[in-house]
Order: sequence, then C-alpha cells, then structure tokens
Amino acid sequence: MIDLKITKTATPKEKPDESNLGFGKIFTDHMLMVDYSRKEGWHDARIIPFQNISLCPASTVLHYGSEVFEGMKAYRTQSGEVQLFRPIENVRRLNNSAERLGLPQMDEQYCLELIKAIVEIDKDWVPSKEGTSLYIRPFMYGNDPHLGVHSIDNATFVIILSPVGSYYKEGINPVKIIIETEDVRAVRGGTGYAKCGGNYAASVRAGEKAEKKGYAQVLWLDGVERKYIEEVGAMNVMFKINGEIITPKLTGSVLPGITRKSCIELLKDWGEKVSERLLSVDELTEAVMNGTLEEAWGTGTAAVVSPIGMLSFNDKEYVVNGGKIGPITQKLYDELTGIQWGKKEDKKNWIEKI
Ligand SMILES: *Cc1c(COP(=O)(O)O)cnc(C)c1O
Repeated sequence: MIDLKITKTATPKEKPDESNLGFGKIFTDHMLMVDYSRKEGWHDARIIPFQNISLCPASTVLHYGSEVFEGMKAYRTQSGEVQLFRPIENVRRLNNSAERLGLPQMDEQYCLELIKAIVEIDKDWVPSKEGTSLYIRPFMYGNDPHLGVHSIDNATFVIILSPVGSYYKEGINPVKIIIETEDVRAVRGGTGYAKCGGNYAASVRAGEKAEKKGYAQVLWLDGVERKYIEEVGAMNVMFKINGEIITPKLTGSVLPGITRKSCIELLKDWGEKVSERLLSVDELTEAVMNGTLEEAWGTGTAAVVSPIGMLSFNDKEYVVNGGKIGPITQKLYDELTGIQWGKKEDKKNWIEKI
C-alpha cells in the first residue's frame, strides 16, 4: 500500500449528461497531488477535492515552461468494470519526458498506484455510454519560487480526471490535413520525443492557420530539412503505400505514441509489412499521384485511429482512398477499441483492471 492521504469532497457534483461530454471540459470530484523537493524526494501524496492550484508568481513553470504531461483513459466494460490500457507505458513515457526537461522521475510502480488510486476514488465518474471514457491527465511541473534559470529543486505531480465523449459521434469521418511548410514542431536533440507543454505552445500558430483554411490538423515535417513526415497534431501517422505500412521512425523529434506502438504490434501479428523509416513528403505525394497510397491514418489515445481523407501540400490537395476509411484503418480501430472496452479478448495483456 502506498502512503496517501485522502480528503473527500463534502459537496459531490452532479454527474454530467453522458451524451454531451465533449473533451476535457468537465472534471471529477477529486484530484491527486504529490510534492517533490530535492531534499525530501516525493512526499505528501494526497487526494483532495478538485480545486485551483496556488503558485508563487516566480514559479519555474510560469516562466520557463518546465512541464510534462500524459494522456490516458479508463474504460467501462459492458459488465461495469473499469480498466486501463497499457498504463505502465504512460508511466515510463512520463519519466522519459521528465528526464528530458530536468524534472524529477518517479518510481514506476508507485506512479501506477497513484493513477489507480485516483481513478478508484472517482470510479463512478467513468461513463458507460458507447464510446465514452474517463480521460486521465497526469502532469508534472517545476515549481521553484525564484527567477534564476537552473536545475529544478521543487516540483509537483498532479492527476486530474475528465469524463469525455465519443470522439466519433457521427461515425468515423476521415479528416483533412495540411502539411505545414513554415513552422516546425521539433528538432532532433530537442524535446519532440517528450510529451511537454512547450511542444504544444509552439504548434498553436500553425494549428490556427490550418483551421482557418478548413483543415482539422497540421502534418509536421522534420525541423532540419523540412522534407520528412513526422506526425500530426497530437497523433502519430501511418501510411499504406503499395502494400507496405510506413510510419516515421522515432528519430527523437517524434512523440513515441502508445497507440502507434500498439498498432505496429497488431499489424505485425496480422502479417502486415510494417516499416518504421523516413518517409519524404515527395515520396508521399508521388504515391498519391501514381495511385499507390492505399490508406492514411493518425494514431493517438483520443481518437484511437483517425482516417485521413485528404492531404494538402503547397496549396495542392491530394485525396486519399476516395476520402473514405480504408480496411486496415477500420480493422485497427475495431481491434483496439474492442480490447479497450473489453469486447475483445486481451491476448497481449494490455489491460489492467481497477
Ligand atoms: C500524446 C501524443 C501522441 C499520441 O500518443 P498516444 O500515446 O498514442 O496517445 C502523438 N503525438 C503527440 C505530439 C502527442 O502529444
């Protein structure tokens, strides 16, 4: 058992309407916090009523962006149980992200226990309507109360929970994506592989521009040559070209998605040819033009898999698979969501029950 002080709310909130949850707008009754100091290590783990956080105005995170986060979900099965999908992978990635930002790491098992403890407390908040889930947002920030830039001596780890709606309310609709040619998200040696707020701060401008032009998300190119495909917004990408399933390799500037990893494992099990390699934008547009691009999709916790129906590059539009979802995309979606919501057998031991 972990040392955890629990203070329950005296005023539990009313549960929201499950058909109108949206994403990340509603929060549960409780949150979890743990403090870190170089002297004491991680200490004072506590579950408290959901509330605002108080910070010194000089706090590191507010000035130098020392923040990393995770995104995962708790799913309710048809029999009413609550389960997590590969949570240890999120814990490991959190530590890798923290290491890159000079933030403290946490014992893996301890961190997993904290995640399970907060989900257990607010278990009733895991919605049961088809496609809904409880989004889990663990995050960590540097919290030294002075302005000098140096190694971080104080940090805070927090977990908040948000019931979220089905990503595909009106069925799976392929999205339109624009290849960004000005801004870059990350460079090798930078923080691209870390799940940190700063990467998102740098991507907002391009996202806004894309949205104005009618595209759902931005497809990033590598930051050095602006030639190789990297990833989409908050998703990794996969393309099926001439029978080969290609996903950009993890060069340091691509976020190592857990959905990406799971898709690769499933595809290999199914006997598909999967390559983690560099894919240039020229190879991709050529594949569209000569008809060898069969399917394209994004992978990530929020949407699971998201078919790409159109790519835009240098003001030219390229339609993928007639703008429809392809068979591999559909099969991955069915298999992963089947495992996550407990409708399909968990042959790979990916599920952890609460
Ligand atoms: C979180 C994230 C992903 C997807 O990772 P999953 O573990 O599959 O949810 C992809 N790209 C970026 C930039 C991300 O932040």
